[in-house]
Amino acid sequence: MSQHHRVIIIGSGPAGLTAAIYTARANLAPFVIEGEPSSTSDQPGGQLMLTTEVENFPGFPEGVMGPELMMRFRDQAAKFGATFLTAKATKVEFGEKPLKVHVRDEVFTADSVIVSTGAQSLMLGLQDEERLIGHGLSTCATCDGFFFRGKEIAVVGGGDSAIEEASFLTKFASKVTLIHRRDSFRASKIMQERALNNPKIEVRWNTAVSEIIGDDQLQGVNLVDTVTGAQSTLEIAGLFIAIGHRPNTDVFKGVLDMEDSGYLITRPDSTYTNIPGVFACGDVKDHTYRQAITAAGSGCMAAIDAERWLEQHH
Ligand code: NAP
Repeated sequence: MSQHHRVIIIGSGPAGLTAAIYTARANLAPFVIEGEPSSTSDQPGGQLMLTTEVENFPGFPEGVMGPELMMRFRDQAAKFGATFLTAKATKVEFGEKPLKVHVRDEVFTADSVIVSTGAQSLMLGLQDEERLIGHGLSTCATCDGFFFRGKEIAVVGGGDSAIEEASFLTKFASKVTLIHRRDSFRASKIMQERALNNPKIEVRWNTAVSEIIGDDQLQGVNLVDTVTGAQSTLEIAGLFIAIGHRPNTDVFKGVLDMEDSGYLITRPDSTYTNIPGVFACGDVKDHTYRQAITAAGSGCMAAIDAERWLEQHH
Protein backbone atom coordinates (compact mmCIF):
# COMPACT_ATOMS: atom_id res chain seq x y z
CA MET A 1 0.00 0.00 0.00
CA SER A 2 1.47 3.32 -1.09
CA GLN A 3 2.29 5.66 1.80
CA HIS A 4 1.93 8.94 -0.10
CA HIS A 5 -1.40 10.07 -1.52
CA ARG A 6 -2.71 13.12 -3.30
CA VAL A 7 -5.78 13.11 -1.07
CA ILE A 8 -6.36 11.40 2.25
CA ILE A 9 -9.95 11.38 3.48
CA ILE A 10 -10.43 10.77 7.20
CA GLY A 11 -13.90 9.41 7.95
CA SER A 12 -16.38 7.54 5.79
CA GLY A 13 -19.93 8.74 6.41
CA PRO A 14 -21.93 10.45 3.66
CA ALA A 15 -19.51 13.41 3.63
CA GLY A 16 -16.28 11.41 3.39
CA LEU A 17 -17.60 8.93 0.85
CA THR A 18 -19.05 11.65 -1.36
CA ALA A 19 -15.69 13.40 -1.23
CA ALA A 20 -14.15 10.03 -2.17
CA ILE A 21 -16.47 9.60 -5.18
CA TYR A 22 -15.71 13.10 -6.46
CA THR A 23 -11.94 13.01 -5.89
CA ALA A 24 -11.76 9.50 -7.38
CA ARG A 25 -13.57 10.70 -10.49
CA ALA A 26 -11.06 13.56 -10.65
CA ASN A 27 -8.30 10.90 -10.88
CA LEU A 28 -6.90 11.80 -7.46
CA ALA A 29 -7.02 8.19 -6.17
CA PRO A 30 -8.25 9.12 -2.69
CA PHE A 31 -7.13 7.05 0.27
CA VAL A 32 -9.94 6.77 2.82
CA ILE A 33 -9.10 6.09 6.46
CA GLU A 34 -12.61 4.89 7.16
CA GLY A 35 -12.68 4.38 10.91
CA GLU A 36 -12.94 1.30 13.03
CA PRO A 37 -16.05 -0.75 13.70
CA SER A 38 -17.18 0.36 17.13
CA SER A 39 -20.57 0.81 18.66
CA THR A 40 -21.16 4.53 18.70
CA SER A 41 -18.43 6.61 17.07
CA ASP A 42 -15.97 6.66 14.22
CA GLN A 43 -17.36 3.50 12.67
CA PRO A 44 -17.00 3.04 8.90
CA GLY A 45 -20.12 4.48 7.28
CA GLY A 46 -20.80 6.89 10.12
CA GLN A 47 -24.04 7.44 11.97
CA LEU A 48 -26.23 5.90 9.26
CA MET A 49 -24.80 2.53 10.25
CA LEU A 50 -26.80 2.93 13.46
CA THR A 51 -30.13 3.60 11.78
CA THR A 52 -32.60 1.32 10.07
CA GLU A 53 -34.79 2.74 7.35
CA VAL A 54 -33.86 6.05 5.69
CA GLU A 55 -36.83 7.59 3.89
CA ASN A 56 -35.58 11.11 3.25
CA PHE A 57 -32.51 10.46 1.10
CA PRO A 58 -33.44 11.61 -2.42
CA GLY A 59 -33.53 8.90 -5.04
CA PHE A 60 -34.95 6.17 -2.80
CA PRO A 61 -38.74 6.57 -2.92
CA GLU A 62 -39.20 3.20 -1.23
CA GLY A 63 -36.67 4.05 1.48
CA VAL A 64 -33.33 2.35 2.05
CA MET A 65 -31.64 0.82 5.08
CA GLY A 66 -28.92 3.11 6.47
CA PRO A 67 -26.12 0.50 6.24
CA GLU A 68 -27.13 -0.44 2.69
CA LEU A 69 -27.06 3.20 1.63
CA MET A 70 -23.55 3.56 2.99
CA MET A 71 -22.40 0.36 1.26
CA ARG A 72 -23.66 1.85 -1.99
CA PHE A 73 -21.73 5.07 -1.37
CA ARG A 74 -18.62 3.01 -0.63
CA ASP A 75 -18.99 0.76 -3.68
CA GLN A 76 -19.40 3.81 -5.88
CA ALA A 77 -16.20 5.37 -4.50
CA ALA A 78 -14.29 2.07 -4.85
CA LYS A 79 -15.49 1.67 -8.44
CA PHE A 80 -13.72 4.90 -9.39
CA GLY A 81 -10.48 4.00 -7.61
CA ALA A 82 -10.80 5.03 -3.96
CA THR A 83 -8.92 2.73 -1.58
CA PHE A 84 -9.77 2.14 2.04
CA LEU A 85 -8.04 1.46 5.32
CA THR A 86 -10.28 0.23 8.13
CA ALA A 87 -8.63 2.05 11.01
CA LYS A 88 -8.76 5.28 12.95
CA ALA A 89 -6.37 8.19 12.47
CA THR A 90 -4.52 8.45 15.76
CA LYS A 91 -2.52 11.64 15.18
CA VAL A 92 -2.13 14.32 12.51
CA GLU A 93 0.81 16.61 11.71
CA PHE A 94 -0.25 19.48 9.50
CA GLY A 95 2.57 21.91 10.39
CA GLU A 96 4.57 21.32 7.20
CA LYS A 97 4.13 19.63 3.81
CA PRO A 98 3.58 16.85 3.10
CA LEU A 99 0.69 16.57 5.53
CA LYS A 100 1.00 13.56 7.83
CA VAL A 101 -1.69 11.24 9.14
CA HIS A 102 -0.71 8.59 11.67
CA VAL A 103 -2.58 5.35 12.10
CA ARG A 104 -0.96 3.88 15.18
CA ASP A 105 2.66 3.13 14.09
CA GLU A 106 2.11 3.81 10.40
CA VAL A 107 2.46 7.26 8.86
CA PHE A 108 0.69 8.25 5.65
CA THR A 109 1.56 11.46 3.83
CA ALA A 110 -0.64 13.52 1.57
CA ASP A 111 -0.76 16.68 -0.52
CA SER A 112 -4.25 17.37 0.80
CA VAL A 113 -6.50 16.01 3.53
CA ILE A 114 -10.29 16.03 3.80
CA VAL A 115 -11.59 15.70 7.35
CA SER A 116 -15.04 14.09 7.60
CA THR A 117 -14.96 12.35 10.97
CA GLY A 118 -18.55 13.28 11.82
CA ALA A 119 -20.19 13.65 15.19
CA GLN A 120 -21.90 11.38 17.61
CA SER A 121 -25.12 11.80 19.53
CA LEU A 122 -24.59 11.72 23.25
CA MET A 123 -26.37 8.72 24.72
CA LEU A 124 -27.74 7.97 28.17
CA GLY A 125 -25.37 5.05 28.69
CA LEU A 126 -28.12 2.58 29.52
CA GLN A 127 -28.12 -1.11 28.77
CA ASP A 128 -30.01 -2.00 25.55
CA GLU A 129 -29.74 1.57 24.27
CA GLU A 130 -27.56 0.75 21.28
CA ARG A 131 -29.43 -2.46 20.53
CA LEU A 132 -32.75 -0.64 20.19
CA ILE A 133 -31.49 2.23 18.00
CA GLY A 134 -33.66 2.08 14.90
CA HIS A 135 -36.17 -0.10 16.75
CA GLY A 136 -38.13 2.58 18.53
CA LEU A 137 -35.12 4.45 19.87
CA SER A 138 -33.79 7.34 17.83
CA THR A 139 -31.47 10.32 18.01
CA CYS A 140 -32.96 12.15 15.02
CA ALA A 141 -36.54 13.45 14.99
CA THR A 142 -36.24 14.77 11.44
CA CYS A 143 -35.23 11.31 10.26
CA ASP A 144 -37.56 9.10 12.25
CA GLY A 145 -40.54 11.18 13.43
CA PHE A 146 -42.65 10.01 10.52
CA PHE A 147 -42.56 6.42 11.79
CA PHE A 148 -44.49 7.39 14.94
CA ARG A 149 -47.68 8.74 13.40
CA GLY A 150 -50.52 8.55 15.94
CA LYS A 151 -48.30 7.00 18.63
CA GLU A 152 -47.21 8.07 22.11
CA ILE A 153 -43.53 8.83 22.37
CA ALA A 154 -41.02 10.60 24.62
CA VAL A 155 -38.02 12.88 24.24
CA VAL A 156 -35.17 13.09 26.75
CA GLY A 157 -33.36 16.38 27.33
CA GLY A 158 -33.97 19.97 28.36
CA GLY A 159 -31.96 21.96 25.82
CA ASP A 160 -33.01 23.60 22.55
CA SER A 161 -32.61 20.32 20.65
CA ALA A 162 -34.95 18.39 22.95
CA ILE A 163 -37.61 21.08 22.81
CA GLU A 164 -37.29 21.57 19.08
CA GLU A 165 -37.55 17.82 18.53
CA ALA A 166 -40.51 17.47 20.91
CA SER A 167 -42.35 20.28 19.12
CA PHE A 168 -41.54 18.82 15.70
CA LEU A 169 -42.66 15.36 16.79
CA THR A 170 -46.13 16.59 17.75
CA LYS A 171 -46.80 16.77 14.01
CA PHE A 172 -46.81 12.98 14.01
CA ALA A 173 -47.26 11.63 17.53
CA SER A 174 -50.50 11.68 19.48
CA LYS A 175 -48.59 12.67 22.63
CA VAL A 176 -44.98 13.61 23.43
CA THR A 177 -43.64 13.32 26.96
CA LEU A 178 -40.59 15.50 27.51
CA ILE A 179 -38.40 13.92 30.16
CA HIS A 180 -35.96 16.28 31.84
CA ARG A 181 -33.69 15.55 34.79
CA ARG A 182 -34.08 18.98 36.42
CA ASP A 183 -36.94 21.38 37.22
CA SER A 184 -36.06 23.99 34.61
CA PHE A 185 -35.05 23.91 30.97
CA ARG A 186 -31.70 24.95 29.61
CA ALA A 187 -33.39 25.88 26.32
CA SER A 188 -34.06 29.47 25.26
CA LYS A 189 -37.21 31.09 26.66
CA ILE A 190 -39.02 31.24 23.35
CA MET A 191 -38.48 27.53 22.74
CA GLN A 192 -39.62 26.72 26.28
CA GLU A 193 -42.85 28.65 25.81
CA ARG A 194 -43.49 26.86 22.56
CA ALA A 195 -43.23 23.49 24.29
CA LEU A 196 -45.14 24.45 27.41
CA ASN A 197 -48.02 25.88 25.36
CA ASN A 198 -48.26 22.84 23.12
CA PRO A 199 -51.20 20.71 24.30
CA LYS A 200 -49.60 17.55 22.90
CA ILE A 201 -46.45 17.94 25.04
CA GLU A 202 -46.39 16.87 28.68
CA VAL A 203 -43.26 17.68 30.67
CA ARG A 204 -41.98 15.25 33.30
CA TRP A 205 -39.68 17.43 35.43
CA ASN A 206 -36.97 15.99 37.69
CA THR A 207 -37.14 12.71 35.87
CA ALA A 208 -34.48 10.40 34.46
CA VAL A 209 -34.77 7.27 32.36
CA SER A 210 -33.45 4.37 34.42
CA GLU A 211 -34.22 1.52 32.03
CA ILE A 212 -35.30 0.97 28.46
CA ILE A 213 -37.90 -1.77 28.01
CA GLY A 214 -38.24 -3.91 24.88
CA ASP A 215 -36.78 -7.00 23.25
CA ASP A 216 -36.89 -6.43 19.49
CA GLN A 217 -38.79 -3.17 19.65
CA LEU A 218 -38.93 -0.46 22.29
CA GLN A 219 -42.08 -0.71 24.39
CA GLY A 220 -41.50 1.72 27.20
CA VAL A 221 -39.13 3.14 29.77
CA ASN A 222 -38.74 2.96 33.50
CA LEU A 223 -38.38 6.38 35.07
CA VAL A 224 -36.99 7.60 38.34
CA ASP A 225 -37.80 10.88 40.06
CA THR A 226 -34.42 12.59 40.57
CA VAL A 227 -35.64 14.29 43.78
CA THR A 228 -37.78 11.69 45.54
CA GLY A 229 -36.40 8.52 43.94
CA ALA A 230 -39.96 7.40 43.10
CA GLN A 231 -40.10 4.96 40.23
CA SER A 232 -42.64 4.71 37.43
CA THR A 233 -43.12 3.15 34.01
CA LEU A 234 -44.08 4.96 30.82
CA GLU A 235 -45.42 2.95 27.89
CA ILE A 236 -44.28 4.52 24.63
CA ALA A 237 -43.61 3.42 21.06
CA GLY A 238 -40.65 5.71 20.56
CA LEU A 239 -37.90 7.37 22.58
CA PHE A 240 -35.85 10.24 21.16
CA ILE A 241 -32.62 11.06 22.93
CA ALA A 242 -31.73 14.72 22.48
CA ILE A 243 -29.08 15.44 25.09
CA GLY A 244 -26.49 16.91 22.73
CA HIS A 245 -23.88 15.90 20.17
CA ARG A 246 -20.12 15.66 20.21
CA PRO A 247 -17.99 16.11 17.09
CA ASN A 248 -15.22 13.54 16.59
CA THR A 249 -12.36 16.03 16.67
CA ASP A 250 -10.12 14.93 19.54
CA VAL A 251 -7.33 14.04 17.13
CA PHE A 252 -7.35 17.58 15.64
CA LYS A 253 -7.14 19.50 18.94
CA GLY A 254 -4.43 22.16 18.80
CA VAL A 255 -4.02 21.60 15.05
CA LEU A 256 -7.25 22.72 13.38
CA ASP A 257 -9.29 25.73 14.47
CA MET A 258 -12.41 24.62 16.29
CA GLU A 259 -15.21 26.11 18.36
CA ASP A 260 -15.24 25.59 22.12
CA SER A 261 -17.75 22.81 21.49
CA GLY A 262 -15.20 21.03 19.26
CA TYR A 263 -16.84 21.64 15.88
CA LEU A 264 -14.28 22.49 13.20
CA ILE A 265 -14.32 26.00 11.80
CA THR A 266 -14.25 26.46 8.04
CA ARG A 267 -14.08 29.61 5.97
CA PRO A 268 -17.61 30.81 5.12
CA ASP A 269 -19.15 29.18 2.04
CA SER A 270 -16.24 26.77 1.67
CA THR A 271 -14.64 23.76 3.32
CA TYR A 272 -11.23 25.43 3.85
CA THR A 273 -9.83 25.02 7.36
CA ASN A 274 -7.06 27.19 8.84
CA ILE A 275 -4.42 24.85 7.33
CA PRO A 276 -3.86 25.21 3.56
CA GLY A 277 -4.66 21.92 1.84
CA VAL A 278 -6.84 20.64 4.70
CA PHE A 279 -10.60 20.71 4.20
CA ALA A 280 -13.50 19.76 6.48
CA CYS A 281 -16.99 18.63 5.60
CA GLY A 282 -20.08 16.98 7.08
CA ASP A 283 -21.21 16.86 10.68
CA VAL A 284 -17.71 17.52 12.03
CA LYS A 285 -18.27 21.16 11.03
CA ASP A 286 -22.08 21.32 11.03
CA HIS A 287 -24.13 21.51 14.20
CA THR A 288 -27.16 22.93 12.45
CA TYR A 289 -28.44 20.58 9.78
CA ARG A 290 -26.83 17.18 10.55
CA GLN A 291 -28.48 15.37 7.64
CA ALA A 292 -27.00 12.72 5.35
CA ILE A 293 -27.86 14.80 2.32
CA THR A 294 -26.28 17.99 3.68
CA ALA A 295 -23.19 16.03 4.73
CA ALA A 296 -22.97 14.53 1.24
CA GLY A 297 -23.33 17.99 -0.27
CA SER A 298 -20.51 19.38 1.81
CA GLY A 299 -18.39 16.31 0.95
CA CYS A 300 -18.81 17.25 -2.68
CA MET A 301 -17.75 20.82 -1.85
CA ALA A 302 -14.63 19.56 -0.05
CA ALA A 303 -13.65 17.40 -3.02
CA ILE A 304 -13.99 20.32 -5.42
CA ASP A 305 -12.12 22.64 -3.04
CA ALA A 306 -9.32 20.05 -2.69
CA GLU A 307 -9.11 19.42 -6.43
CA ARG A 308 -8.86 23.14 -7.23
CA TRP A 309 -6.36 23.72 -4.44
CA LEU A 310 -4.18 20.85 -5.72
CA GLU A 311 -4.32 22.25 -9.25
CA GLN A 312 -3.04 25.59 -7.98
CA HIS A 313 -0.40 24.28 -5.58
CA HIS A 314 0.89 21.03 -7.09
P1 NAP B 1 -27.49 21.20 25.27
O1 NAP B 1 -27.85 22.64 25.17
O2 NAP B 1 -26.15 20.84 25.79
O3 NAP B 1 -28.61 20.52 26.20
C1 NAP B 1 -28.50 19.19 26.55
C2 NAP B 1 -29.67 18.86 27.46
O4 NAP B 1 -29.62 17.47 27.75
C3 NAP B 1 -29.62 19.60 28.80
O5 NAP B 1 -30.90 19.99 29.20
C4 NAP B 1 -29.04 18.54 29.75
O6 NAP B 1 -29.56 18.64 31.07
C5 NAP B 1 -29.56 17.27 29.15
N1 NAP B 1 -28.64 16.16 29.41
C6 NAP B 1 -27.32 16.10 29.15
N2 NAP B 1 -26.82 14.90 29.50
C7 NAP B 1 -27.86 14.19 30.01
C8 NAP B 1 -27.99 12.90 30.54
N3 NAP B 1 -26.96 12.07 30.63
N4 NAP B 1 -29.21 12.51 30.97
C9 NAP B 1 -30.28 13.33 30.89
N5 NAP B 1 -30.22 14.58 30.37
C10 NAP B 1 -29.03 15.01 29.94
O7 NAP B 1 -27.61 20.44 23.86
P2 NAP B 1 -28.61 20.71 22.64
O8 NAP B 1 -29.98 20.91 23.12
O9 NAP B 1 -28.33 19.63 21.65
O10 NAP B 1 -28.09 22.09 22.03
C11 NAP B 1 -26.73 22.23 21.61
C12 NAP B 1 -26.53 23.65 21.08
O11 NAP B 1 -27.28 23.84 19.86
C13 NAP B 1 -27.03 24.72 22.06
O12 NAP B 1 -26.17 25.82 22.00
C14 NAP B 1 -28.38 25.06 21.54
O13 NAP B 1 -28.79 26.37 21.88
C15 NAP B 1 -28.18 24.91 20.02
N6 NAP B 1 -29.46 24.60 19.36
C16 NAP B 1 -30.24 25.62 18.94
C17 NAP B 1 -31.46 25.37 18.34
C18 NAP B 1 -32.31 26.51 17.87
O14 NAP B 1 -32.02 27.63 18.22
N7 NAP B 1 -33.34 26.26 17.10
C19 NAP B 1 -31.91 24.05 18.16
C20 NAP B 1 -31.10 23.03 18.62
C21 NAP B 1 -29.88 23.31 19.23
P3 NAP B 1 -29.13 19.83 32.04
O15 NAP B 1 -29.90 21.03 31.55
O16 NAP B 1 -29.56 19.35 33.38
O17 NAP B 1 -27.65 19.97 31.91
